Amino acid sequence: MMKKILKTTFILLLVVSILIPTFNVSSAEYVADGDKTLKQVKQDLAKFKAEQNQIDSNISKNKNEVTSSKNSIASKQKEIEDNQQKVVDATNESARLEKEIKEGKAELENLVKNYQIANGENIYLEYIFEAESYEDLIYRYAVMEQIMNYQEDKIASWRDKIERNEQLKKDLAAREILLNDQINNLSKEIDELNKAIKDFSEERLSVQEEIQSVQSTIDSLVNLGCKDDQKISTCLKDADTSFRRPLTKGVITSVWGYRTHPTTGKPNTFHNGIDIGGNSVGTPIYAAANGTVGKVIWKSSCGGNQVYIYHTINGKKYTTSYLHLNSINVKVGQFVKNTAVIGTVGGQKGTGDNCTTGAHLHFGMGTGWYGLDYISGSTWQARSVNPTSQISFPAKGKYFYSRY
Ligand SMILES: [Zn+2]
Repeated sequence: MMKKILKTTFILLLVVSILIPTFNVSSAEYVADGDKTLKQVKQDLAKFKAEQNQIDSNISKNKNEVTSSKNSIASKQKEIEDNQQKVVDATNESARLEKEIKEGKAELENLVKNYQIANGENIYLEYIFEAESYEDLIYRYAVMEQIMNYQEDKIASWRDKIERNEQLKKDLAAREILLNDQINNLSKEIDELNKAIKDFSEERLSVQEEIQSVQSTIDSLVNLGCKDDQKISTCLKDADTSFRRPLTKGVITSVWGYRTHPTTGKPNTFHNGIDIGGNSVGTPIYAAANGTVGKVIWKSSCGGNQVYIYHTINGKKYTTSYLHLNSINVKVGQFVKNTAVIGTVGGQKGTGDNCTTGAHLHFGMGTGWYGLDYISGSTWQARSVNPTSQISFPAKGKYFYSRY
């Protein structure tokens, strides 16, 4: 008769579920406004996917630029090596030309000597030139002059070439400085590109998490039978999101409120929940209403393994808590229906949980979302709600045998 079916407006908050088997605080969250339709949530998903594609294209663009900068560095380094070879060649050539100039000069000196002899009226003239006649002598004389001119021209051109080689070496040295500057700039560019790639990759990861979060929201809504053009709040109102008992069977062994603590014996201690006994270790525990897993705590020295679930009942936020669990089946950010088994009853002695005397479920309830709207345990205690004010339970000591 006292069964309370509370109609709900459900503003869905999904914190991304990170698929790591330990408790993990989420970094990306997607909050679906209750005024949005499923279709709009799907559009949000498309938007995030487009964002991801954009990031992917930025990453690949930057990677291409890195490759082309690396190629450019390689070709500049190749040019430096080639130029260094050119310097070696020019140096060798100049050395060879210096030698030839020296030899050429000696030859020329010899010619000049002979020419001077020829120019004078040396009696050995004919002998030296082996001329057979005066005409022949004149002819040979002219040829010698030509050879001398030719030799002088040759030496001048060699000198010229050596000078050009010196200029080339100067030019190549300047070019090397320029190329090294360009290589340095390209290296800096590569560093910046790699940093941008790293930033993009981080951004991609966060968008990826958002995509997973929205996708899981969509899955939950589809699972609840929401239609594309239906507002989320309307759809979830139709869904059964009222509070129910978290166990199919049990008995209240300790009520909500002030009591003498059962393990410490301290009087006037506030008990911010109800203890439900009558179940053995391993008995399934259900979410008291549709909601999102907001917090999971492992192996607390007082409370053991714990699950906290966020709900919005009739537009009002609540958190339900489940303590002393033997096992936990859910992850932070996971959307759970009120039929989901979130874990199993624990509380037996010897688990390291000092705040229990035997197998039972401590079931708590408070307003707001503990761990998201506020984090202090004292606020959680101040906001504590007696679960029996929201869910019908038989009096302490009397068994119930259903979730209603
Ligand atoms: Zn308790």
